[in-house]
Amino acid sequence: MIPFLDLKAINLRQSEAMHAALERVLQSGWLILGQEVEQFEREYAAWCEAKHCIGVANGLDALILALKALDIGPGDEVLVPSNTYIATWLAVSHVGATPVPVEPVEGTCNMDPARIAAAITPRTRAVMPVHLYGQPAAINDIVAIARQHGLKVVEDGAQAHGARIDGARLGAHGDAVAWSFYPGKNLGALGDGGAVTTNDPQLAERIRVLRNYGSRVKYQNEVIGYNSRLDELQAAFLRAKLPLLDADNARRREIAAIYQRELAGLPLTLPQVRADVEPVWHLFVVRHPKRDAIIEGLKVAGVGIVVHYPIAPHQQQAYASLNVPAGSLPLAERIHAEVFSLPIGPTQTDAQTLAVVQALRDVLRALG
Ligand SMILES: *Cc1c(COP(=O)(O)O)cnc(C)c1O
Repeated sequence: MIPFLDLKAINLRQSEAMHAALERVLQSGWLILGQEVEQFEREYAAWCEAKHCIGVANGLDALILALKALDIGPGDEVLVPSNTYIATWLAVSHVGATPVPVEPVEGTCNMDPARIAAAITPRTRAVMPVHLYGQPAAINDIVAIARQHGLKVVEDGAQAHGARIDGARLGAHGDAVAWSFYPGKNLGALGDGGAVTTNDPQLAERIRVLRNYGSRVKYQNEVIGYNSRLDELQAAFLRAKLPLLDADNARRREIAAIYQRELAGLPLTLPQVRADVEPVWHLFVVRHPKRDAIIEGLKVAGVGIVVHYPIAPHQQQAYASLNVPAGSLPLAERIHAEVFSLPIGPTQTDAQTLAVVQALRDVLRALG
């Protein structure tokens, strides 16, 4: 059995450091917004090559707080990828704005900068590119177009901790980057967690106030805020894991290279990587029109497969009210119908990776 992601093994590597982190927090007696969160914010900002980091409760809140801090709300439109995890869209909806889908470049599945201008209306306030599957979107082009049109840029970095474009880490290309530390992400806590990074000190301060009841001084509330804080304990766990992240991402790249090499030439669409990016392979997503039959065959062979994602956001019941007609976002619809993700993670061995390759070859041969 080859698991899709062996979270237990991943976290047990840091068992000692995690126990030390727990003990530190217990001994400090301070559980919310203290030293651990402050230190993690400093360490993660430096790691992302960003000036500021604000720890929050989860990735969805990171997106929401970034939009809220940019004063985006009812009546506003925000451009989102048609092909993404639904959280990106939900954040826009939760601030009262309207998500407007933009189709991807087919090879990378990331937002197509060439389609942005046509989606802009007088109500458009922001663009939210997602660095999907761990591969940077064309963020420099997107930021350039956004600036021409006076739009803000909030990046969804939940799948791309440490990815680079033109040699620069993601972290502050747009106005803000939202991060998730959900356990299965490349940097995962032992529960929920998230953060926003930015180079804008005023935006950072607004998010800091918003995450803590709109308050800078206890029991004085300046704005209608949220309770969305990263726990001291989760920050301490994340500090124990951050030192492994570069090596973990490098290991993911090795596994991806094995897949790219061994699967080339098979009747399967492999991920394309732009020459100017260094992805971190949160997911290794391939495509085939007979996706469901392949997954069934791989399941029998003991290979864990997950589909990211089976239903496009505009086809979810939650967005029925947007009335996006079927067929109007053909790329997103086709991608959602054909994708499946192969096992990849920092503890996966070459032997496991080659066993996945062999199982996939066998299944594809049987399909004819
Ligand atoms: C995981 C994820 C999120 C949400 O993160 P949570 O911490 O689960 O709230 C947002 N966007 C993308 C692309 C994600 O993969």
